[in-house]
This record gives sequence, C-alpha cells and structure tokens, in this order.
Amino acid sequence: MPLLALLVLALLLAAAGCGTRPPAPSPPRPSPPPTPSPSRTPLPSIAPRQRDVRVPFAASGRYAVVPGGAPARPGRGSVVRYLVEVERGLPFDPGEFAAAVHRTLNDVRGWARFQRVDHGPVRVRVALSSPRLTIRQCRPLRTGGTLSCWNGTRSVINALRWAKGVPQYGGDLAAYRNYVISHEVGHSLGHSHRPCPGPGRLAPVMTQQSKSLGRCRPNPWPFPARKPREERRDRRSEARAERGPG
Ligand SMILES: [Zn+2]
Repeated sequence: MPLLALLVLALLLAAAGCGTRPPAPSPPRPSPPPTPSPSRTPLPSIAPRQRDVRVPFAASGRYAVVPGGAPARPGRGSVVRYLVEVERGLPFDPGEFAAAVHRTLNDVRGWARFQRVDHGPVRVRVALSSPRLTIRQCRPLRTGGTLSCWNGTRSVINALRWAKGVPQYGGDLAAYRNYVISHEVGHSLGHSHRPCPGPGRLAPVMTQQSKSLGRCRPNPWPFPARKPREERRDRRSEARAERGPG
C-alpha cells in the first residue's frame, strides 16, 4: 500500500473510536480553557442491585431499537436526532437504559440537545452491546472485550463497562455511565481524543478515561462548569433573598 494510503487509514482509525491502536500524528491544538472546580451537584447513585448484574460475554448478537421517543431539553440551538438500541438477551431493561442515555445527553453539561426517536434518519445510534458484539462492531479497533467505541454509525457501549464501571471512577458508577455516553457520542459529533492537560486538572471528556486518567481527575461532562438547572434556580432564589424586599 502506498505510504499516503497508510497515513490516511491511520488518521481515519484515530478518529473512529476508543480501541487500542498505535498513536497517529495529530496537528497541534490550542490548549483548552482552564478547568474550573468540579460541580458540587451530587450525582445520582446507582441502586446496589444493579451492580450485581452479571453480563454474559455474548448475547443474541442482534439489536432491538428501543421504541418510543423523548424530546430534547428546552433551549436554543440545533437538536440532534438519535436512537437507542439494546442487544436482545442482555440483562438490562431497554427503557431504563434509554432513559439514562437521554438524561446524560440532555444534561446542561452535555454536548447539545438530543431528541430520541425510534425511526427515520438519525445522527447517532447508542447501542448497548455484549462484549462479543462490541468486539464485532468495533473492528478494526481493538476493544479487548472491555472498551467501548464509535464505529462510524454507532456509539457501541460495552455492557460489561456499563455494569461495572472502571476503578479510576472510584465506585461512582453513575458518573462513569455519564462519561462513557458523553465520550462515545462525542465521537459521533466529530470530537477526537484529547490528552490530560495537566496534573490535577479535570480530564476532558474526550480523554480516554476508561484506559487511564493520566494525572487528571475524572470528569464525565463535555462542559463541567455549566450549572444544572436546579442549582441555578437555587442561586437565583438565594440572590433574591439577599436583596430582600423593596
Ligand atoms: Zn474514544
């Protein structure tokens, strides 16, 4: 293969997802803005029983689109249409998975506003997949049966990681789930991997945090400095209280 073709192939693979591959050359990027302190909003906890889910290495190998839909959060800007798929035979409730994905994608700290549909043209499919189906869907990226990926059509979410998280998230499974959805859908919007910007900083969501945080701290959000609505409302009412009547 000519050298140019090899280079193009390497760049395509680098943009594709999260599997293991040799590092590809990348152009210099402007450094990211300073990362503010993490949000004080507590993340929802995951019921203990969900941690005990045993994920089989393989399920049916066939996806089912989760029926129904959900509107994008209110706000300005364009809306991304997406759908959710769950491999038949996995020990997860498809509706619960779709609801969790939708909450993450429409969080004010997320990428954009997302409308879930179950048909028609979509920008991205978010697909909960057994390790074996993940391996198949993510080729030629090497996921080792544990990583997730973006394969050009689907954000392939490995059910094993969805169930167990990763040690570097310190047992905060809800936060890890926010991360893996935000990261793999980030690829669908054209975002590539980013390195840890420095010791003690929040990891960009496009850092491969499932592999390593480097010397960064975990961060599941594209825009971690944005405040969730409840917190903003609280601050507004605090400000009103401080001003007082008259
Ligand atoms: Zn990735």
